[in-house]
Amino acid sequence: MVANISKTDMQKNIDGIMEKIRASAERAGRSAADITLIGVSKFQPMEAIRTAAECGIEIFGENRVQERAEKLGGLGRPVSWHMIGHLQRNKARKALELFDCIQSVDSLDLARALQRILSEKNSAPYPIMVEINTSGEPSKEGASLDDCYELLEGIISECPALSVEGLMTIGPLTDDVAAVRRAFALLRSLRDGANERFGIDMPHLSMGMSGDYEVAIEEGSTMVRIGTGIFGPRHI
Ligand SMILES: *Cc1c(COP(=O)(O)O)cnc(C)c1O
Repeated sequence: MVANISKTDMQKNIDGIMEKIRASAERAGRSAADITLIGVSKFQPMEAIRTAAECGIEIFGENRVQERAEKLGGLGRPVSWHMIGHLQRNKARKALELFDCIQSVDSLDLARALQRILSEKNSAPYPIMVEINTSGEPSKEGASLDDCYELLEGIISECPALSVEGLMTIGPLTDDVAAVRRAFALLRSLRDGANERFGIDMPHLSMGMSGDYEVAIEEGSTMVRIGTGIFGPRHI
């Protein structure tokens, strides 16, 4: 059993992360205001999520639809939820109900499934991000580099109910900082290239986790997804 983290300790964690976000942004000549901290709450109990919301976290990331569905209680303040794990098509409807953004769209089939469901209602375009496997590690989720532009083109032309806000990636799991940096720089150049090629304006790069968010910010990240750095060890 992992002990529950106290509010004081969590606030200390978050303050430390915010300080490092500021310093990394400054090193890159960026403003910390352009970087959003997402609290990755997978395998964390509601109590810890409530504490994080009290400490000022406004967006939570979960990687499974079922786990998000079990976390429906009020948090005392409005928060949003981002889906950051692989999404199966048969869970698309449920995911749209439970999440405010799906960061892990990795195939045109999934995008089309979301489009079909969303087109039943005439609502504002739903925000998504396209997940790219920048490290080439076969175990990693996300569309391959080679498929990136074709996938984006398909979504833009066939899925008007989706608003593509940016690209997301998971950095390679290695101590080689240069390799991590290359993966993040690659995501940024893909985003810049896509914006130019398709005449769009995707603002976001969701990259950086507890172990590599400072490098990610130096390479242009606008959303860092941090779990253990905020909450401590996961309750699994
Ligand atoms: C778990 C997870 C994170 C957070 O990982 P930490 O190392 O705990 O910060 C970020 N992004 C994704 C997609 C994850 O699955």
